[in-house]
Amino acid sequence: MRTRFAPSPTGYLHVGGLRTALSAYLLAKQSKGTFVVRIEDTDQERSVPGAVENMLTALHWAGIHPDEGVMLEKGLITQKGAHGPYIQSERLELYRRSAQELLKSGHAYACFCSPERLEKMRSEQEARKQAPMYDRTCMKLKDEEVQRRIAAGESHVLRLKVPRNEIIAYEDEIRGPMSFQGHTIDDQVLLKSDGFPTYHLAHVVDDHFMDISVVIRGEEWLSSTPKHLLLFQYLGWKPPCYAHVPLLLNKDRTKLSKRNSAVSVEEYIAKGYLPEAFLNFIALLGWNPGTTQEIFTLGELIETFSLERMQKAGAIFDTEKLDWLQGQWIRKLSAPEFAKRILPIVAERFSPASRDKNFEAKAKLIQERVTFFSEAPSLLSFFYEEPAPSIDLLANAKQKVSREILPKILEGLSSTLESILTDEWTESILAETLKKLAEENGWKIGQVLWPLRAALTGLPYSPGAYEVAAALGKDVTIARLEAAKQLITQ
Ligand code: GLU
Repeated sequence: MRTRFAPSPTGYLHVGGLRTALSAYLLAKQSKGTFVVRIEDTDQERSVPGAVENMLTALHWAGIHPDEGVMLEKGLITQKGAHGPYIQSERLELYRRSAQELLKSGHAYACFCSPERLEKMRSEQEARKQAPMYDRTCMKLKDEEVQRRIAAGESHVLRLKVPRNEIIAYEDEIRGPMSFQGHTIDDQVLLKSDGFPTYHLAHVVDDHFMDISVVIRGEEWLSSTPKHLLLFQYLGWKPPCYAHVPLLLNKDRTKLSKRNSAVSVEEYIAKGYLPEAFLNFIALLGWNPGTTQEIFTLGELIETFSLERMQKAGAIFDTEKLDWLQGQWIRKLSAPEFAKRILPIVAERFSPASRDKNFEAKAKLIQERVTFFSEAPSLLSFFYEEPAPSIDLLANAKQKVSREILPKILEGLSSTLESILTDEWTESILAETLKKLAEENGWKIGQVLWPLRAALTGLPYSPGAYEVAAALGKDVTIARLEAAKQLITQ
């Protein structure tokens, strides 16, 4: 099994591109096959400098490593493998040769029509509500005339002669039996006037010489597939299998686009998604494992992925699901690993964190509560700086802590907590003691815990009061309660 990912270097790695790459990668890996990366840069005008590095870096981040073709080695683009070169602009001779063959066998013809003429023809067809299609003016030219004009250096392209009366059929690995009427297919340009091939010719030549078994690509190429099958037939080659993966859609089922969502993988890296979570999300776009399992490691995906379970309908790019998966993956990290990953950003804001021997225990308190590592410094702030709770935070209507009752609760808290011995200062003893305090005063436990937590952290959202008080220790807890009492008597 040989599969390939063949991006055009037009900027960044699109999330849909990553999904295609992942599908091709999984298919190759599960059969111990080869995953090839090829760069399709025949449209020189659209090629962007640095795009290849960007795309390969994003693939690498996601954990998708090419076995063959174009890859990064120590940050530099290299090519590896026996079917190279793997960059189309380095293979021009091969395409020209195939184009000549098609011309000789009569399956392609030269077309001298100017862009202006073609444009006029197109707009007339559109006005007549016809699908735009080349009208074959140049197909009728006599051989001698064609030769003379080519010899005179007249600008021309090469077009595929599509058999108008044939039906072109194949079995798509995702969509099942497909068939196309020849008369609906345009005579595709194969070689442009600058001598560069179009995608249509180049990728067919490459997929053949690179021995690709299954072509996995976006649905936008479905309607071009009959042209590709004709090229394989006319060049005397066996075509690969094709699998067209569904489009990615916004929640309102419109096509996912730059205008309404982040579409480059780079943007999701910058937002702080874990590669494992992002890849997990991408894998589930349009693919249903057939079980209730939602969390998949790359290894599990390699084992369970199959094209048969890929849907035909567009796949909704649901970022809420992505965030949920991100949370799941954060929880899945071991506590030491989580602490290790957040330490640099926490220490950047609070330098004492880098010398904190108990950092891991503190980190553990917030692991359940973060979706992004970037939330960690704020959530741990109260360990490294004095909190500054406001009266509005300490009193909380939802928790039935009114301003009137607040002084009493704070007073009750500090005198009760004062009575706990330092070596009995544990979460469970704190819980027991505070429960008793609430009962004795006819308060709900929430009425006691809210102001305590607020006084200790200064945050509306943090780990629970017992955990925080236990982690801060008796002295700091009492001191912060005193500060809160001071605040409300001012
Ligand atoms: N270069 C094409 C693209 O970027 C690849 C299509 C294919 O995989 O055949 O969309």
